[in-house]
Order: sequence, then structure tokens, then C-alpha cells
Amino acid sequence: MPDERPRVLISGASVAGPVLAYWLHRFGFLPTVIERVAELRVGGGGHAVDLFGPVVELMDWMGVLPEVEQARTQTEVITLVRPRARTVEVPAEVLSEGVSERHIEIMRGDLAKILYEAARGQVEYVLGMWVLPHLPAPLRRRLTAFGGSAAAMLDAARLSKPNELPALG
Ligand SMILES: Cc1cc2nc3c(=O)[nH]c(=O)nc-3n(C[C@H](O)[C@H](O)[C@H](O)COP(=O)(O)OP(=O)(O)OC[C@H]3O[C@@H](n4cnc5c(N)ncnc54)[C@H](O)[C@@H]3O)c2cc1C
Repeated sequence: MPDERPRVLISGASVAGPVLAYWLHRFGFLPTVIERVAELRVGGGGHAVDLFGPVVELMDWMGVLPEVEQARTQTEVITLVRPRARTVEVPAEVLSEGVSERHIEIMRGDLAKILYEAARGQVEYVLGMWVLPHLPAPLRRRLTAFGGSAAAMLDAARLSKPNELPALG
């Protein structure tokens, strides 16, 4: 029997994409996440992000809070540097306390990996494929007109690779 759930195409498998896919799946949708890089930028590189109050709660609802807590990092001092002004050093903990009682600092790549894994199995990921923000009309029609299988949608999306655009323009 064909799957009647509404299909959703999500662009980007970093933080927002997998979270959106996870929740849309929970609420009866069939999401496919398309990521332009062929290999996810996961791991401890890049920069740290701070998760405050409601975001920490969201991690809890998704069941990934223990992993997020395990991967947490800790900035000790934030240094504010301005030309012709004295350098100001603020203990990071004090600053985050002023924002929320619940706070987790984590590397973006570690967070992305945890969220990617949380949605895997329920959500289809396609790596190395682009969805262009300003689609030419023929491509936009093809992307929005699909009503059948995920394969049909992905066939349409595959056309959005930049090197195929001139033929559509
Ligand atoms: C130094 C620094 C510190 C930051 N600190 C914080 C913080 O403390 N708290 C916080 O909440 N945020 C912070 N941010 C912002 C943080 O990076 C973002 O909140 C977070 O990464 C947003 O996730 P996202 O999934 O929306 O976007 P991104 O992480 O930017 O991911 C977008 C994804 O979409 C993919 N993509 C883009 N275009 C396309 C396309 N056309 N088709 C297919 N795939 C596509 C990209 O390859 C990427 O994987 C910080 C950012 C920087 C640079």
C-alpha cells in the first residue's frame, strides 16, 4: 500500500534540518533531508554553540540530552576586545547564568552528529545534493509537483545541482 503521509523536503542536515525532520516525522510527515556537502561536517571541529533553557528542554524531549551533556564543552573566559579601550574579561559561567539556569555549551559538529543520528532511521537523508534558494520556475514546478514516491522527489531534486541549471534556465 502506498505511504499516504505528506512528504516534506528539508534543505540542510546540520542543526535545524534534523530537528525539524525529527518532529515532522513524529507528527505524521515523511521528511527527506537534502544536504549539499557529501560528508557531514560533524565532530569536535568548528565552533562552540550555547544551548539555553528551551533548547535544552527540546533536547530532553528528543531523548538526546544525555549525549548532549556528555559532549559538552566549557569556555571559561570570554574576552571582549575593542580598539582604544581596555580589554574586558568576563567569566563565561556568569554570563550564561544571566541568560538561563539551564545551559549547555557544545561544539556545533558534535551537536549536528547527535541530531543527525536521532532522526536517522525515521528520516531519509540524501548527502551531496543542493536545493537552490532561488529556483528557476521549471525546476520549482518539478520540485513542487511531485506527488508520488520519494524517488520521484529525489529525481526532481537531483536536477538542482548547479551544473545542471543552465539547461533549465
Ligand atoms: C562563532 C559562532 C558562534 C555561534 N554560537 C551560537 C550559539 O551560541 N548558539 C546558537 O544557537 N547558535 C550559534 N551560532 C550559530 C550556529 O552556527 C547556528 O545556530 C546553527 O549552526 C544553525 O544551524 P542551522 O542548521 O540552521 O544552519 P547551519 O549550521 O548553517 O547548517 C546549514 C546546513 O545546510 C546546508 N545547506 C546550505 N544550503 C543548502 C542548500 N541550498 N541545499 C542543501 N543543503 C544546504 C549546509 O551545508 C549546512 O550543513 C554560532 C555561529 C558561529 C559562527
